[in-house]
Amino acid sequence: MFKKILIANRGEIALRVLRACQELGIKTVAIHSEADERAMHVRMADESICVGPASAQSSYLNIPAIITAATLTNVDGIHPGYGFLSENQRFAEIIEEHNIKFIGPHSSHIKIMGNKIDAKKIMDDNKVPTVPGLNDISNKIEIEKFINDVELPVIVKAASGGGGKGMRVVTNKEEIENSINSAKAEAKKSFDDDKVYLEKFLTTPKHIEIQILADSHGNVVSLGERDCSIQRKHQKLIEESPSEILTNEKREEISELSKKAVSSLGYEGVGTLEFLYENHNFYFMEMNTRLQVEHPVTEMVTGIDLVKQQILAASGEKLKISQNDIKLKGHSIECRINAEHPESFIPSPGKITQYHQPGGLGVRVDSSVYQGYSVPSHYDSMIGKLITYADNRSECISRMKRALEEYVIMGINTNIQLHQKIIMTEEFQSGKYDINFMSSFN
Ligand code: ADP
Repeated sequence: MFKKILIANRGEIALRVLRACQELGIKTVAIHSEADERAMHVRMADESICVGPASAQSSYLNIPAIITAATLTNVDGIHPGYGFLSENQRFAEIIEEHNIKFIGPHSSHIKIMGNKIDAKKIMDDNKVPTVPGLNDISNKIEIEKFINDVELPVIVKAASGGGGKGMRVVTNKEEIENSINSAKAEAKKSFDDDKVYLEKFLTTPKHIEIQILADSHGNVVSLGERDCSIQRKHQKLIEESPSEILTNEKREEISELSKKAVSSLGYEGVGTLEFLYENHNFYFMEMNTRLQVEHPVTEMVTGIDLVKQQILAASGEKLKISQNDIKLKGHSIECRINAEHPESFIPSPGKITQYHQPGGLGVRVDSSVYQGYSVPSHYDSMIGKLITYADNRSECISRMKRALEEYVIMGINTNIQLHQKIIMTEEFQSGKYDINFMSSFN
């Protein structure tokens, strides 16, 4: 088992990992930028070390500084959290070269899944249904043929894409060349890889993802699904588990296929297969080889601590949970709390002058902010997650409504009001919403 883990992240996820380490009796090292000196993850860790100035590029993405910190503090594991370097193959590789354990899959698996075209090929080989697509777009006739086959609209996507960048929906044949060029330019700028491909654009799907947990001994389990269809600009806003529209049969079918595909790779740790779901059919989009922001809803309905399991798997332990042990019980919803204006969505950094977080039965707040804390302008605007759990979906929504009302954050703008509006809509309450929900929402 690990003795000391360095957490290469900040904010609520650094705290989440810290808590798991504490329960497992593992010492922790926090890294931080100059802007995060007073941050909660720094205060709660056993040791902390500054890795650079405020900009993420100079600190949380600064691989040499993080490796130096890990060597100086003599850690035997590094947890990357999500975002930042969590899906950076080179980072995982360098850590492996330093004989420190990267708490995540092998770097080769990050590489394969980091390329959405390669990931789709692996899924195809394993009979996991994928979104119909065209990978080689060098030939105009092939593009024409693809569009005729699948019919417009299609979507141009970046092979190395993430965070909704490098995507263009094409509704008109004449736009295709321009869309490819502009997606390429954005992909080059964001991911230093201008490879793009085409996919059929599904018009009314849900975004449903399957949570996988695997050990290094070939055991793989599925922890069911999360419905993440409430998105703005392809960024998730509210997630829930289970999805209101999935039958047990469908859940089992896609879980089994997902497990087989992951198993065929010898994948280790936690991972998420993201699908679009339309007309009772699943279409694989991509796999995330890390812990997800929305992992708590899965923890609530399965009773399984995913971060602890991830750490145990990385330490080489055999999975003690079998598929039969996993029963989805009750319902859980997560609202991402962002420091931003609820209508203009403009980030709202600054000092939190008053703070009261909700509590009570079935309410969980994963956040790292506190009264008097200044939200820095340098990083993502998500400042926490409000998660509710109840025996059934309607009670879970009532509890979320109550918890959102109770949540007080003064001094900065937040999207709490927006969440209040969303969860009270008929569409959300029915559970039948799709990924277009936010575009028609005002
Ligand atoms: P990223 O890695 O940038 O987040 P994804 O491939 O996960 O990109 O897609 C993000 C979101 O974009 C999806 O949840 C969905 O809303 C939309 N999307 C992506 N591909 C398609 C598609 N083929 N048809 C319809 N929507 C899509």
